[in-house]
Amino acid sequence: MLVRAVCQSKFIVVTRKDVGCSMEETMKEDEVFPLAKESLVGVVGAGTMGRGIALVAASAGHNVYLYDVDSVAVEKAIEQIGLDLDRMVKKGRLSNEDKKERLARISPVDALEGLSGAALVIEAILEKLDVKVALFSALESLVDSKAILATNTSSLSVTAIAAKLKRPEQFVGMHFFNPPMMMPLVEVVSGHATSAGIVQIIYETAKAWGKVPVLCKSTPGFIVNRVARPFYGESLRLVNEQAASPAVLDCICREAGAFRMGPFELMDLIGHDVNFAVTSTVYEEFYHDPRYKPSLVQKALVDAGWLGRKTGCGFYSYDGSVEQGDVASASSSVQPTSIVVEGDLGVARPLVERAKAAGIRVEQKAGAGKIKIGDAVLALTNGLTASELSASWNEQVVLFDLVHDFNSTVRIAIAPGDAVKADSLDNAVGFFQALGMAVSVIDDAPGLVVMRTVAMIINEAADVVQQGVANRQDVDLAMMKGVNYPLGPFQWMGVVGAKGVFNVIQNLGVIYGDDHYRPSPLLRRLAIADK
Ligand code: NAD
Repeated sequence: MLVRAVCQSKFIVVTRKDVGCSMEETMKEDEVFPLAKESLVGVVGAGTMGRGIALVAASAGHNVYLYDVDSVAVEKAIEQIGLDLDRMVKKGRLSNEDKKERLARISPVDALEGLSGAALVIEAILEKLDVKVALFSALESLVDSKAILATNTSSLSVTAIAAKLKRPEQFVGMHFFNPPMMMPLVEVVSGHATSAGIVQIIYETAKAWGKVPVLCKSTPGFIVNRVARPFYGESLRLVNEQAASPAVLDCICREAGAFRMGPFELMDLIGHDVNFAVTSTVYEEFYHDPRYKPSLVQKALVDAGWLGRKTGCGFYSYDGSVEQGDVASASSSVQPTSIVVEGDLGVARPLVERAKAAGIRVEQKAGAGKIKIGDAVLALTNGLTASELSASWNEQVVLFDLVHDFNSTVRIAIAPGDAVKADSLDNAVGFFQALGMAVSVIDDAPGLVVMRTVAMIINEAADVVQQGVANRQDVDLAMMKGVNYPLGPFQWMGVVGAKGVFNVIQNLGVIYGDDHYRPSPLLRRLAIADK
């Protein structure tokens, strides 16, 4: 058996200064090797994840032994792997020869003892602590003392599983995303006792398997399932407050925010039982921190058994009666011919060029980042409501939302203050229409949709970094490669500016009087540094 990296490398732990806060990072003194190709990989659990992980390892050249308590599950898994490989051959991504070789490398075993020769065993069984502990305790007594044991758990503590083992230092989290062959991300999760060397071997192994690994500490939700909570949570709050319908919010997130799917269609796809359980677990594990509070809107769906696509009904109906994502946009017959731009529009600066390109005369004046069209005053949301700003500026304020790219966006969300007159709103809609955008007019929701979602994702990411769970680069990678976000949270912060993001969250906190919108101390510091 080969676990050669353990003996060939020495590891040192250094302290690195990352944005002013100390963070322990494992650095390697000399090269660390991934698990050798000749090493046998064991996979326990032949369900959705196990069969995918087995194929990933076999595709990288390992012989893989697959075990499941249910022998029929193993047979079905191997059949399904064959079908998956057939599809790859049909698409021209794989030769028939390669397909046969990969398939031949995966062998079923009918008893756990069959895995005794494995250098690495990856578990993908039932998500229950006692069941996983029982499995790893049994495995530990079977495999070589240098073998690495890895869990694919999404929500259990790697530290808690390891605590019950004789060799906790050999135990690590290897969190793949579904489907493992398609999704590049692997979160390499270190428990309290995991050896730095084991972490590095698994990191290098994931890379050698064609994956994008990131390092993180075993904390609730790891990186992705924690930083992604606001993507669902903010939209659920907006629906709860009747700011807009799920279809409108999905459309805004997709077309203005450049997220691949909207939160509601994604929750319907994941299943509300699963999504609600993840949120509830993170909430419980953070001792009921209001940041992660689950939504009553989603709980109602779970209670009703409307679990999404799998039950034919969730936020959308899947019997064909509702056109998913078919959303009417606002329209205006007003075509503004001139505008006044006061001050610097910051991230929304490209609107000025787009206005000129649309033949609109632009007059620039000093001021605080506003666009004036007749009586209407347009400003990027700062987390307060348009009604509140209308009252304090004594103007007809229509707020607009953040978009992924103001140079090219095809949609924008706007919200008028309660006292804004119809013709001021018409001017605002007409302006964005003239620039080639579809306009979604929503209720006067503080922070609108994309800004509020993105700001809360950045805020969570800042806490993850400050608390030493992962570094900035890995957080960005994790969110782009694990859940396909168009930008990593820190990249997005670079675009919007830390000060702007911090203001939005602080203002949301003022409006809601709720600890849910508690700014991360690191974000506060970055905002001070953001001139
Ligand atoms: P699944 O239900 O599709 O498959 C689980 C398999 O494990 C079943 O075939 C079952 O027979 C087998 N099993 C149960 N107990 C066993 C035991 N004691 N010994 C051997 N086999 C046993 O589940 P899944 O979706 O593949 O999830 C597996 C693990 O991966 C869970 O820990 C889950 O949290 C995690 N995970 C799931 C996803 C996902 O999207 N499904 C993503 C990442 C991680």
